[in-house]
Amino acid sequence: MDDELRKTIAAARADVLARIAAAAKGAGRDPASIALTAVSKFQPEERIEAMLGTGQRMFGENRVQEAQDRWTARRATFGDLELHLIGPLQTNKAKDAIALFDVIETLDRPKLAGAIADAVSKLGRKPRLYVQVNTGEEDQKAGVAPQDADAFIASVRRDYGFEPEGLMCIPPEAEPAGLHFALLGKIASRNGLSKLSIGMSADYETAVMFGATSVRVGSALFGARG
Ligand SMILES: *Cc1c(COP(=O)(O)O)cnc(C)c1O
Repeated sequence: MDDELRKTIAAARADVLARIAAAAKGAGRDPASIALTAVSKFQPEERIEAMLGTGQRMFGENRVQEAQDRWTARRATFGDLELHLIGPLQTNKAKDAIALFDVIETLDRPKLAGAIADAVSKLGRKPRLYVQVNTGEEDQKAGVAPQDADAFIASVRRDYGFEPEGLMCIPPEAEPAGLHFALLGKIASRNGLSKLSIGMSADYETAVMFGATSVRVGSALFGARG
């Protein structure tokens, strides 16, 4: 592999990890309590290989098909991979998603909870789950509305027997992310959930201040997407 690329990717990852650690320190948090999900969607293969070479094992993908193509064979090589689905999931793809991903971060409606429950019982494989909240109530974004979140989380527990691990959100681009992270944190704590998947390349340090337990970073790690 291209040595230059290997160095660039390793330096980018080291920089992101250092910034996470500094933000954690500033917030009086243990840096080890914040996991880094490397968002590999639309990235060329050689960058993925370079990232794997750094020891990075948590990856996030937006689409089931793309993730299958990229990761299915690599599962055998890297037994410690942890794959997160961070894009919207259609019910007809639930089975494929459960077969591949360790964590589904985008559970946002009863029909999807039902499809996941069916897939889990068929495949005997149970992913960790995050409920996505559409904190900005944007029409084009997935996620349960903030005012419906409590009832949905209760239903996920009661009707489907799943204990969600935490909450996830994607703030509106034009608004201060901190407001949305704070709202998500409030919804999490009143529902007894301790994990927050928040923060992307532009705002992961802010997310750490607002309690992120995992940040989803793509372009700051890999470079711009094609
Ligand atoms: C693409 C994407 C990211 C990463 O975005 P960057 O700005 O490249 O860090 C994080 N979360 C979700 C849900 C995404 O779709």
